[in-house]
Amino acid sequence: MPYIIVPPARREELDAAAEARWSAIVEVRPELVTAVELQRRLLVRVMSLKRAIEAGRLPRLSLPPRYLAAKLARGVPALAGEPIPLPVTLLADTLVGLCGELAEGGAGEAAEHIRRVIESGQMDAASLLGASLSRDQNAIRTGAAHRGLAADLVWLVAELTVGPFAYVLQRMIFATGPRTGDPPAGEQRDPVAAALDAWNHGYCPACGSWPAMAEVVNGHRALRCSFCSAAWELPSYACVYCGEEGEPFVTAAPDEERKDRRLEVCSACAGYLKTVDTFVLSPFPLLSIGDLETMDLDMAAMEHGYQRPSLRDFTVKR
Ligand SMILES: [Zn+2]
Ligand SMILES: [Zn+2]
Repeated sequence: MPYIIVPPARREELDAAAEARWSAIVEVRPELVTAVELQRRLLVRVMSLKRAIEAGRLPRLSLPPRYLAAKLARGVPALAGEPIPLPVTLLADTLVGLCGELAEGGAGEAAEHIRRVIESGQMDAASLLGASLSRDQNAIRTGAAHRGLAADLVWLVAELTVGPFAYVLQRMIFATGPRTGDPPAGEQRDPVAAALDAWNHGYCPACGSWPAMAEVVNGHRALRCSFCSAAWELPSYACVYCGEEGEPFVTAAPDEERKDRRLEVCSACAGYLKTVDTFVLSPFPLLSIGDLETMDLDMAAMEHGYQRPSLRDFTVKR
């Protein structure tokens, strides 16, 4: 079953799990205390936005099952190229708030600058958020360059803001209705569920992003989308970026004592993926804590010349 439904957690459970993981990080690596504090402030806003989106009116997407199944069968992520109305007013508040948190949390003037440009309307929040949802790195880079903004920071703040919306969409199209579980006797399997079963790409079937990392539960390697938090498992054990499964693809634990935290590195494409053994898959948005917990793995991979590749481009150029 390649697409995995991650059970959503109740608010108190989510808060408690996040706090426990943050405390554990600081205990082992006290130098990360400021990074943890910033992440806590960012995630409080992200979680509250997620609740507001869930409580509001969700967009009606025109994605008939057969159309969606055919799209997935061509290797195109479900949301790619779809006109999706964003709750801009709701998201823009968080966008500005997150710029403020980042400014106070160490990004300083660079984040303040982004906030001013958005608040003054010099940069259109709706276009920025739309570009983030369609994973259009070029549009965001160009828009940032024109206004003298730090492109990576613009990308990050937009991604943090649109993430909860992408998560809600991902669940709406994949995790609800007849797409889950086995069909009643005598009925055919939902075409989308069947298409998801056949999904064998390293990028997310919902939004097309690469996984932030893999969480391995009971030997099942679940790739976790860095944007919408989707979880999916591939039929083969290979490089998620280029499909290499021969000698150039190596899995190793940089720390001998911690075989539960590994790196998959590929000398064919120079990509790397962090892989950790865990008991449960992280519910949204706790995957970003997992990313912080494994920062040493990123360092180890980058020291050896590996990197995370750019996003694949599914935008339709007209
Ligand atoms: Zn995704
Ligand atoms: Zn590769």
